[in-house]
Amino acid sequence: MALIVQKYGGTSMGSPERIREVAKRVAHYHALGHQLVVVPSAMAGETNRLLALAKELNPEPHGRELDVIASTGEQVSVGLLALALQNLGLKARSYTGWQVKIQTDSAYTKARIVAIDDSLIRRDLAEGFICVVAGFQGVDEDGNITTLGRGGSDTTGVALAAALQADECQIFTDVDGVYTTDPRVVPEARKLEQITFEEMFELASLGSKVLQIRSVEFAGKYKVKLRVLSSFTPHDSNDTGTLITYEEENAMEQPVIAGIAFNRDEAKLTITGVPDRPGIAYAILGPIAEANIDVDVIIQNTSHEGLTDFSFTVHRNEYNKALDILNQQVRDQIQARGVTGDNKIAKVSIVGIGMRSHAGVAAKMFAALAKENVNIQMISTSEIKTSVVLDEKYMELAVRALHDAFELDKAPVA
Ligand code: ADP
Ligand code: ASP
Ligand code: MG
Repeated sequence: MALIVQKYGGTSMGSPERIREVAKRVAHYHALGHQLVVVPSAMAGETNRLLALAKELNPEPHGRELDVIASTGEQVSVGLLALALQNLGLKARSYTGWQVKIQTDSAYTKARIVAIDDSLIRRDLAEGFICVVAGFQGVDEDGNITTLGRGGSDTTGVALAAALQADECQIFTDVDGVYTTDPRVVPEARKLEQITFEEMFELASLGSKVLQIRSVEFAGKYKVKLRVLSSFTPHDSNDTGTLITYEEENAMEQPVIAGIAFNRDEAKLTITGVPDRPGIAYAILGPIAEANIDVDVIIQNTSHEGLTDFSFTVHRNEYNKALDILNQQVRDQIQARGVTGDNKIAKVSIVGIGMRSHAGVAAKMFAALAKENVNIQMISTSEIKTSVVLDEKYMELAVRALHDAFELDKAPVA
């Protein structure tokens, strides 16, 4: 007997028929003798619908109220799934995040889990219940409802698995595992039997939406056995999805590149003709940090006659705010020529722990993009990834060209 946490995404929960299918899959695992905690997302499209409703009534809604509204999607899902399980003759009980309780900080719309009280779930499991726990939501110290950021049900699933020391956390979604890149963009993308934690972490943080970054963070911290699987395969199929691994003994035999991530949510800001003197980066980025805006890729050009250009990227949602701050800085503090921006950019990244031991990977990436005439605007590298910023209209072309250049459609030779 194992204790398994299963998370089902929005498409998997998308209709009464789909919810019935989820219940049957859960029943299948239950019949094998396992204890189960099931974490569903809101039905497909529901969170978007709720957030759009909120914005219709107030274009700048307060996070606290947004979370009250958005969390209802998952509340409906747990109730429906518990009913479907009961209809199959199983003992099931639904829980909202605050009933459990999943304690978070108070950062509305992007709260972090700080503690989970597992006592009710352990009691129910011991009594033979299947626990159905709402994903994406929690409660802060003062009893306010919070949500964990888009895609946050993954994090609820992994955090519960960590708290309960579950034998495995299974993320059921609409693809049968983690692929070399999004199979919707590159149909030749190949499913990976396994991927190292570090690579999965980079892919998620660079834009692969298959797992929310914080779920991967939790998995790494608590060494949760994490697997991504399809909820659309037959219940008794032998499909093992993709396993996230933690050991790296075989790193030398790994392919150089594990996968490609892309992200359309970025925007670029440039401040031109800045006097090149100590403290200038701080003068530009200090006020941006104070406004709680995360900065990603940064470049400063070599100076020409004492003046330089300085560019950085931010999340597209924060583009206007960042632009206002820079314009104000240039008016009041920094003697620069001007500020320009572009919110139609994208970032494409190649990721692989094999990059550590192989030279020339970045050059191969640049060559593949040059061949397609794609202009690279910014570059950022770390030990196991290289990212380029480019015009968003070339994003898909770039991803396909890189997938092809690194031959990711072919299984690596052992
Ligand atoms: P869920 O609703 O189940 O949480 P998501 O839409 O959040 O599902 O995540 C699954 C989707 O992630 C897939 O449909 C796929 O389009 C996308 N995706 C992006 N990158 C990858 C990748 N490397 N491997 C698999 N799927 C990916
Ligand atoms: N329902 C939430 C969202 O759409 C959380 C999730 O699906 O993981 O972002
Ligand atoms: Mg998701």
